[in-house]
Amino acid sequence: MITKTIEMPEVSRCDASVCAYNSENGCRARAVTIGDGAFPGCDTFLGSGRVSATESAGVGACKVAGCKFNAEFSCKADAIIVATASAPPACQTYAI
Ligand code: SF4
Ligand code: SF4
Repeated sequence: MITKTIEMPEVSRCDASVCAYNSENGCRARAVTIGDGAFPGCDTFLGSGRVSATESAGVGACKVAGCKFNAEFSCKADAIIVATASAPPACQTYAI
């Protein structure tokens, strides 16, 4: 395994408690992928299992080119919030 040090926007909060990567309203995946077309849903959502990591995730990729924070399918926001206000869980930082 190699070690990579890269800057990514943090997933500062996620309320999707049923997701395997969620712990105490935080995302514990190493990185998430957001979006598919126009909808900024969390593509990394996993409905079964549970991880034991404690560090917050970063946004590794985002496929929502129409968001004002998107540049070449990467997120340039400082941080994002994911919530279940819509289903599936989606990026609430999305803006046009
Ligand atoms: S829904 Fe997405 S952002 Fe939220 S905990 Fe799961 S993988 Fe992380
Ligand atoms: S803020 Fe915009 S670019 Fe960043 S993850 Fe959310 S939808 Fe994608």
